[in-house]
Amino acid sequence: MKWEGNRESDNVEDRRGEDGGGGGGFGFGGRSIGLGTVAVALVASYFLGINPLTMLNLLSGGGGAPAPVQQHAPAHKPPPDDQMARFVSTVLADTEDTWDQIFAANGKQYVRPKLVLFSGSTPTACGTGQTATGPFYCPGDQKVYIDLSFYDLMKQRFKVSGNFAQAYVIAHEVGHHVQHLMGISDKVDAARRNASEKQSNALSVRLELQADCFAGVWAYHANKARHILEEGDVEGALNAASAIGDDALQRQARGVVVPDSFTHGSSAQRVSWFKRGITEGKVSACNTFAAKEL
Ligand SMILES: [Zn+2]
Repeated sequence: MKWEGNRESDNVEDRRGEDGGGGGGFGFGGRSIGLGTVAVALVASYFLGINPLTMLNLLSGGGGAPAPVQQHAPAHKPPPDDQMARFVSTVLADTEDTWDQIFAANGKQYVRPKLVLFSGSTPTACGTGQTATGPFYCPGDQKVYIDLSFYDLMKQRFKVSGNFAQAYVIAHEVGHHVQHLMGISDKVDAARRNASEKQSNALSVRLELQADCFAGVWAYHANKARHILEEGDVEGALNAASAIGDDALQRQARGVVVPDSFTHGSSAQRVSWFKRGITEGKVSACNTFAAKEL
């Protein structure tokens, strides 16, 4: 993917190296566990779609009310010579330009989310964010949180590399922000409150697949406007979607596939919805909730 020289977003907050409280990233209740276990937990919680709110609550000790949001004033900008921070800032800027336009075309105004880079743990409106949670979006403060070491994990454990696959992770989280702005996540949350676990998981899958489709919609428009795609990029992202589908992850984690507990969708479903977004480039192509077949 071509990105050097494109606009970088100002909406990136660098909290790396700050201690966010709530315990270290790799400590669970005082028990220290191996890096391999953390790696599995991290990727699994992200891609198996355990509700970040639940996950955060669990990891930060569980039970109680979400931790109060601490104000980080002033928010630090990443250093200008940090290549990885520049890359994610450029991807974020690209999603801003794309969604600004799509919302404007529908008579709406897009509210740009913030992207927080952190290491270890950090306070969020959804509780304490931990490295082990994987990248996530918190609707309470409209921020996407990522520990960039997640990308090393994608490479090492899932053999997923390429900067477009990395961009796709950001675009998927921004997709959750778009769902929040459109009121979709609220409706789904309300519906899930009165649903069985099975129905609730099925709704989560549709929400996740829609975020994949929105990531595709971003890629379609970004490429049209800025010609970012290079040979092999789409295949790389599709491989990523396929490598990290719930079925592939579950097989790796337990050796069996249990479809009712899918919350992100199977590999084939993730590939299919991302493809739909990037081919059609329209939000209306992403109505996973109306789809008979996923
Ligand atoms: Zn997601």
